[in-house]
Amino acid sequence: MAHVGGCLCGQIRFSIDAEPLGARMCWCRDCQRIASGSATVNVLFPEDAITISGEIGTIGRIADSGNRVERGFCPKCGAQIYSKTVEPAGMPVRIRAGVLDDPELMAPQAIIWTESAPSWAPLDPGLPQYPKGLPPGR
Ligand SMILES: [Zn+2]
Ligand SMILES: [Zn+2]
Repeated sequence: MAHVGGCLCGQIRFSIDAEPLGARMCWCRDCQRIASGSATVNVLFPEDAITISGEIGTIGRIADSGNRVERGFCPKCGAQIYSKTVEPAGMPVRIRAGVLDDPELMAPQAIIWTESAPSWAPLDPGLPQYPKGLPPGR
């Protein structure tokens, strides 16, 4: 069964024809800026399994990792939909957990970029924590 979701105003809907590859929280500074001060929570899927309908806005940036990352959002309501690594290619797309119709789909399994988190960040001690991104291949 496909996993589905959409933005706050509803003009973007997406469908994902694959099971999640993983899930994590990211406290990098870019994520704090787009997630209102908190971490983003991301569920990973293979890019070719994702179909998006509606008008999507994108912003390309060099991430703290040095990778070239594209973030997709709704230009109407501002909801963040995904981030994907454009360079290097081949990494899973990170769908923002909050825009899945079922945010229970997969709980975060790791916390990344903890060195950028503010001192008050509620970091779950039960999860593996990485000061920066995960090592390549994880
Ligand atoms: Zn919207
Ligand atoms: Zn991040």
